[in-house]
Amino acid sequence: MAAICPNCHSPEAVAYVINDDGLYPFTCMECDASVIRSTPRGTLIGSVPCPTGGCTGSVRDAYLYDSTGRLAQLNRHRCLLCGTDQTRKATHHAADHGEHAVPDPRMLRIAGRRV
Ligand SMILES: [Zn+2]
Ligand SMILES: [Zn+2]
Repeated sequence: MAAICPNCHSPEAVAYVINDDGLYPFTCMECDASVIRSTPRGTLIGSVPCPTGGCTGSVRDAYLYDSTGRLAQLNRHRCLLCGTDQTRKATHHAADHGEHAVPDPRMLRIAGRRV
């Protein structure tokens, strides 16, 4: 799992794991910022423009810190306008890895005609 960096606002740049001690985030892959500690009871926000075409909203990750200044919660806030919780266009993501997660719509149409 990964979250938006509150420092450089790169999407999915802060990978994190949840273990017995709670949330453990790794440093940002883009800017090397460490988000595990901040101001006690502080909040950091990472935000990216909504990836939905034509939508002017944003998707945000809120990092909430406890009284000792350790990361206690990480909450993703969906785009207020379209409701997506994605930080990148799904098609871009699939292309990055050479995958075809979504069937080509043209193939579906051909298959539909055969039935
Ligand atoms: Zn960063
Ligand atoms: Zn949106």
